Amino acid sequence: MIIREPLVPGSTIGILGGGQLARMLALAAGNLGLKCHIFAPEADSAAFQVAAARSVASYTDFKALKDFAQRVDVVTYEFENVPAETASYFAGQVPVAPGVAALQTAQDRIAEKTFIAGLGIPVAPFAEVSDQASLDEALDLIGRPSILKTRRFGYDGKGQTRIDGAKSSAAAWADIAKAPAILEGFVRFDKEISVIAARGWDGQIAVYDVPENHHENHILRTSTVPAAISPETAATARRLGGEVIAALDYVGVIGIEMFVAGEDVIVNEIAPRVHNSGHWTMDAGCVSQFEQHIRAICGWPLGSVERHADVVMTNLLGSEINRWRELAVEPGVRLHVYGKGEARRGRKMGHFNRLTPRQG
Ligand code: AMP
Repeated sequence: MIIREPLVPGSTIGILGGGQLARMLALAAGNLGLKCHIFAPEADSAAFQVAAARSVASYTDFKALKDFAQRVDVVTYEFENVPAETASYFAGQVPVAPGVAALQTAQDRIAEKTFIAGLGIPVAPFAEVSDQASLDEALDLIGRPSILKTRRFGYDGKGQTRIDGAKSSAAAWADIAKAPAILEGFVRFDKEISVIAARGWDGQIAVYDVPENHHENHILRTSTVPAAISPETAATARRLGGEVIAALDYVGVIGIEMFVAGEDVIVNEIAPRVHNSGHWTMDAGCVSQFEQHIRAICGWPLGSVERHADVVMTNLLGSEINRWRELAVEPGVRLHVYGKGEARRGRKMGHFNRLTPRQG
């Protein structure tokens, strides 16, 4: 089912997942007079605090999903590991955006890389790995160093291991618990960037300026906009982002992680949702990625992506959230606290955007 007429204020958006991304989506929806119904298994989900309605149930509780579907006008999600049978369940009942096909492509690293390579867009050399023998074959083909990643359910560096000269293939295979996998050639990149793009039901596309991303322990630490890359490289990245979102027939906001190596732009992976490296959009003068996603899935015209400030977004992990007092008084800083309970080590508790006048 698709949306042909914009959902009017007062309509209800159903969101699968109740973390900080759902929370910021619900806040953005609220600004447009739209309500959100959050569906999540955890009773203390951060998004519940700012939502009009909630369902606390497992993603495969089809009775709860039926009730949810009857109470919402469109369904979206804040994370890519929504079971495909859950997303498919809504078919014929209520529009779902992004669609199930895009979700399935992004859930499986082999499907994802095959799809992107099929568009003629550069990706790291890759091979499918299903057992020790196919890993050895893949290593012969791709060489070392390389990275072995589980096909599914990887995030923030989980489910992956680097294979350098010293590591035996048996040890690498054990590292990822012998799960179906992909072996990727190691890209000697200069920078990591991402493209945050949006597409509406009518095919309209908007692409934000490109952030440069720094990770620590595989978790995003900062996104800096603009990235310190040439205008040509930035234009290439944005063009590739537009090609990917159009080819996926995607509706909503997408995050596409890329490597820059010299003049080359190489796509690493797709996140079929709003993305941590797009949090800078909340304060830089454009329509935020959260409002943009809400606009796109509700059939509204897309908003402006024009940036009015330079910005560095920094994640607050674990106990770093205790910095809120000092950050709250710093001019030029915009603070976002996710309202989560326990500040576990490495847990994303909030972020802040430090703004400076636009230079470039
Ligand atoms: P991913 O889970 O695919 O986003 O990978 C997490 C991080 O590992 C990336 O942000 C990169 O820093 C690094 N990485 C992933 N794949 C490659 C690759 N093929 N070559 C070099 N570094 C990689």
